[in-house]
Amino acid sequence: MPNCAIVGINWGDEGKGRMVDLLTQHYDVVVRYQGGGNAGHTVVNERGKFALHLLPSGIFRENTVNILGNGVALDCESLWNEMQDVIAKGVSITPDNLKISDRASLLLPWHRDLDGLEEARLKDKKFGSTRQGIAPFYSDKYQKKTVLAAELLYPEHLEAHLKDLLEWKNLTLTRVYGAEGYTLEQLLDWFHTYADRIKPFICDTGAYLRDAQAEGKSILFEAQLGALRDLDYGIYPYTTSSNAIAAYAPVGSGLPNAKLDEVIGVVKAYSSCVGEGPFTCEWFGEEAEKLREAGGEYGAKTGRPRRVGPIDLVATRYGVRTQGATAVALTKLDILSYMDTIPVCARYELNGEITDEFPNPVVLADAKPITETLPGWGCDISGIRRWEDLPAEARAYVEYVEEKIGCHIRYVSVGPERDSIIIR
Ligand code: GDP
Repeated sequence: MPNCAIVGINWGDEGKGRMVDLLTQHYDVVVRYQGGGNAGHTVVNERGKFALHLLPSGIFRENTVNILGNGVALDCESLWNEMQDVIAKGVSITPDNLKISDRASLLLPWHRDLDGLEEARLKDKKFGSTRQGIAPFYSDKYQKKTVLAAELLYPEHLEAHLKDLLEWKNLTLTRVYGAEGYTLEQLLDWFHTYADRIKPFICDTGAYLRDAQAEGKSILFEAQLGALRDLDYGIYPYTTSSNAIAAYAPVGSGLPNAKLDEVIGVVKAYSSCVGEGPFTCEWFGEEAEKLREAGGEYGAKTGRPRRVGPIDLVATRYGVRTQGATAVALTKLDILSYMDTIPVCARYELNGEITDEFPNPVVLADAKPITETLPGWGCDISGIRRWEDLPAEARAYVEYVEEKIGCHIRYVSVGPERDSIIIR
């Protein structure tokens, strides 16, 4: 069966959760392959509204198996709390429908502390981290100084390893930041409270996925954030600390030799961005406030107001190419209905030159947007389900974006609900 990755084309918050929720009906397995509890995928379905941070969005479908791959930052505390929220709304989570890779590394309590301490030290030069511990976690993972999920299955080995890690990490906490260190008791207590509870879900998910593939099951890979936040291809250093691109899906999932049959890139009909870093098309003042209000652009995890602006076609075309998108889902088209005319950021001006190439992160802050304006459609489109029923101006907007980004827009989303979708 074909497999597919659903990825973000921009700065994150494109509506990936809603697209995965829609498309999981066609897939047997959904895998999260990178990142941690730092992003929030919002899913609205018959059970209510959910902000998923670590759980794969297939968790609401009865026959879907959900996997947290080796590439994720496994924050047992966040995961456990999130599981309780979802279970409380009537969703069943068992080792049959949730499997956690034994090769995933654990995000530990001190990673969150260090994230906050470093952001506080940076003051106005801070990265705008969500303070979930992601950057300290991935640095430790690459230094080989954190705990593998498989270690939870061997308590004696784990305790000896924790003693070593504790000694090392307390040096940083106390001597670099002047903060309190941890005692072994505190750490073990945390492990008993959270990590022990997720033990039943840990298994060799690589083997599971290989078997699933051999049996002809279809696999959906679910990314967090977007191409512009990818560690290697994004707006470094205002990126996340993992690879949010589709190419990492096989590696971070446990199927390193898999080929992606399809990559669906999710793009919003306008732009939004959380945190610091250059955001060329940014609007300010009343114009921004109106769009933010209309689109409900407040962080799913932090509640922070998101920065907003018109669709940035330069950044989006770069994102489409970086992700290798084979089709695009354009979300939140309904939000633009209040505009009489719709501005788009068509090109950049950089050092006196006009360009439609996305610049490197060092000069990106110098780029200025060149705006074009398209006609608005001036009516509510949220109830429309067929392409031909959209107002001509709305279709023209979609076709214009499609032409500029160089990829077919297969899905047009006109509302947060599962069925508020137009499939072309
Ligand atoms: P993700 O992290 O990429 O999954 O995106 P978020 O969940 O942070 O942000 C998307 C937000 O937009 C959520 O609140 C969704 O419910 C909502 N949403 C997604 N698609 C649409 C749409 O087409 N129209 C409207 N009005 N809301 C949408």
